[in-house]
Amino acid sequence: MNKKEWLKCQNSFTKNGKSWPTLTIILFDLLTMAAGLYLTKKGGFFSVVAVFFFVIVFLHAYLLLHEATHCSISHSKLLNGLCGHICGWLILIPFLTRQRSHLLHHVWAGHPENDPVNKAIIRYFSDMDDEKRVKTEKIWRSWLPLFTLSDRIRLWRETIQNKSIDSTGEKQQKNSKFIYCYGMSYIFIGVILFKFNFFLNFIMVYFVAIFILFFFEELVNMPHHARTPLLSFSDKALPYWHQCKIAHSCRRIPIWSYFFILNFNYHSAHHVFPKAPWYRLPLLHKKLLTYMPDLNDEQKKDEVTWALSNRKQSLCSIMKNYVDVADTLKPE
Ligand SMILES: [Zn+2]
Ligand SMILES: [Zn+2]
Repeated sequence: MNKKEWLKCQNSFTKNGKSWPTLTIILFDLLTMAAGLYLTKKGGFFSVVAVFFFVIVFLHAYLLLHEATHCSISHSKLLNGLCGHICGWLILIPFLTRQRSHLLHHVWAGHPENDPVNKAIIRYFSDMDDEKRVKTEKIWRSWLPLFTLSDRIRLWRETIQNKSIDSTGEKQQKNSKFIYCYGMSYIFIGVILFKFNFFLNFIMVYFVAIFILFFFEELVNMPHHARTPLLSFSDKALPYWHQCKIAHSCRRIPIWSYFFILNFNYHSAHHVFPKAPWYRLPLLHKKLLTYMPDLNDEQKKDEVTWALSNRKQSLCSIMKNYVDVADTLKPE
């Protein structure tokens, strides 16, 4: 695909601005969350069902936050920001830091240093001694969401240190203001739950659902950039129309791919058209196939099949490209 073809496709999805699939998902999530709260209040076995409901809502929150990151929820910047912050608040992601980090991931996709996700992974492997390697491999094989957890910690650390925001005073203040709002509203909700004797029950259900969310986040994210080539440190940013080279898509699973993960499996199409809303990705993926029929080959595995085969293998072999770069950074 060249720039002219890319622009033609890009224009085709920006013309039609209806976002009813996103609105339907938001409405569904509000109802599911209300049902989840009701079941949590009832306690006992109902709390188990509530966890299931919350996991669906949290998974959607993660994906809608991703949509808000790309301003794909609405044409209004305010609505995108509002949705991003609410979703981030719900699932413990500082929206502004995540937005900046994720947009750099798209602009510098595949770059070992300028893509913050790649940089963090490479640093993790370059700090690795034999003992850490053994522990990492054990965690990987046990399906625990190591990468998701360390990414959350990175985002909060950067937010608190104000590292993620360019050092212009105004933006730093904005970041601090939002951390303050997040913190105060967590305390406020905690006090309300405590007053209504609902605190312990809710906290238990909430954290079990959050842990399961971390598991799903890792399940859907890992296949996208594992075993993809990395650029050199001196390389320039790849144009969007060439970003299929550094991203993988997964095979579609009926219902799951559309309704549960909002077409997140079409990651190559998402890298080529990052502003396209989630419900346009299947069509854009089909268009991409007309330019790059080879893309079909990478779609042999869905996320679950990918995890089932790769969780049995060594993480260092799956992430060999990252490990190779990390090895060059280790002191002699
Ligand atoms: Zn990506
Ligand atoms: Zn994205």
